[in-house]
Amino acid sequence: MPKPKEVARGKTKILYQHETQPDVLVVKQQDGITARDGERRDVIEGKGQIAAQTTSRVFRLLNLCGLPTHYLNGGEDDNEMLVRRAEMIPLEVVVRGVAAGSLVKRRPGIPRGSLIVPRLIEFFLKDDANHDPLIDVDAVVAQGIANPQEVATMQELARITYEILAHAWRRHEALLVDLKIEFGRLASGEGKGQLVIADVIDNDSWRVWPQGREDLMLDKQLYRNLEVVTPADLERIRANYEQVADMVARFPLMRAGMVALIVDGPEYAGSIEAFSRALGGLGLPTVRHIVSVARTPGHVLQLVGQLEATFARMVFVAIGPATSALAPLLQNASANPVLPVDVADPRPGEVALRCAKVFALEDTIVFGRVLLTQTNARSEVITADAQLNAPVPIPPGMARA
Ligand code: 5GP
Repeated sequence: MPKPKEVARGKTKILYQHETQPDVLVVKQQDGITARDGERRDVIEGKGQIAAQTTSRVFRLLNLCGLPTHYLNGGEDDNEMLVRRAEMIPLEVVVRGVAAGSLVKRRPGIPRGSLIVPRLIEFFLKDDANHDPLIDVDAVVAQGIANPQEVATMQELARITYEILAHAWRRHEALLVDLKIEFGRLASGEGKGQLVIADVIDNDSWRVWPQGREDLMLDKQLYRNLEVVTPADLERIRANYEQVADMVARFPLMRAGMVALIVDGPEYAGSIEAFSRALGGLGLPTVRHIVSVARTPGHVLQLVGQLEATFARMVFVAIGPATSALAPLLQNASANPVLPVDVADPRPGEVALRCAKVFALEDTIVFGRVLLTQTNARSEVITADAQLNAPVPIPPGMARA
């Protein structure tokens, strides 16, 4: 078999050209661990495979939430992660939710461990020789590293990525302190030029404090902090990395429950389709039933019992006219949440988002989809306003006053 062609090499990974697909690269993470701009370097046997597992699980979660990433598949068992080829933007984008690291060194007025709201997003130029200096947004644009639209998209995607991963870590009783991600532009194929989250996101990329306690940290900071590195330290770090990969394995598991769409009367059955569609857009499954509180009251209660026995986690959507008794009946008959809908003003998008928020408490994928839906809704408004206020093009031959 021909040796795979190496395309690029970083401190802890090698990228190869995929044998048959020109738009695809194979990422292999290495067993090396480095700190202090590469001055300190050690090898932890098996770390590459563990890092590939963490990265692929994180990217799978982000993909399931609907975020654009370069990740396609692989990395779980074989340390061969397939990714879309991308032209990398030479920036490290750091999101901070809790003050630590270089932030508290630079800004001693900010107490270590304090919450940062809104999240702080910083850009660092990838430049080992100059210790990856902080770079401001204007300089990123002025130096042609990214255009203003790309800067705004990177900030938004970085913030959402942080919130999704912070949610996932919270479910493991751990605090995501900060996070570093990188971006690229798809180099070829469908969506060429599109900005995607790229590189790797593994236990080197974040600070994670179990129970909110810095002394219990599981991430690479432990290695950075060591005065001298002993074999016992490296073994402890390997065990931490393995523990993190195991915890991250549960990040992309969907625990969404069922949404029961119940319509009070066959005359309103036509309205059910829009709800199924809106819920489907958020990845929420539905069961649909037509009942009549007036004509089949016994059946309504029987149906509630049946559904509750079948689905452990569910939300009822009670659809009917404003005078319908369906919603109050379900409210009293069921321990599950009930959302009343007036058929005269159905608002399926809003109802779907409310259902998703119920499941988002325990399901990071649904939580991420809620965030993305809200972000898209916000950017629709901003885009519409920008279009409304766009300067009117000047007809040829006329000068602006
Ligand atoms: P700080 O600027 O506080 O040192 O780091 C902020 C966050 O970015 C931390 O989560 C840290 O782990 C991550 N980070 C900073 N520099 C690098 C780097 O060169 N590689 C990786 N993988 N993560 C980094």
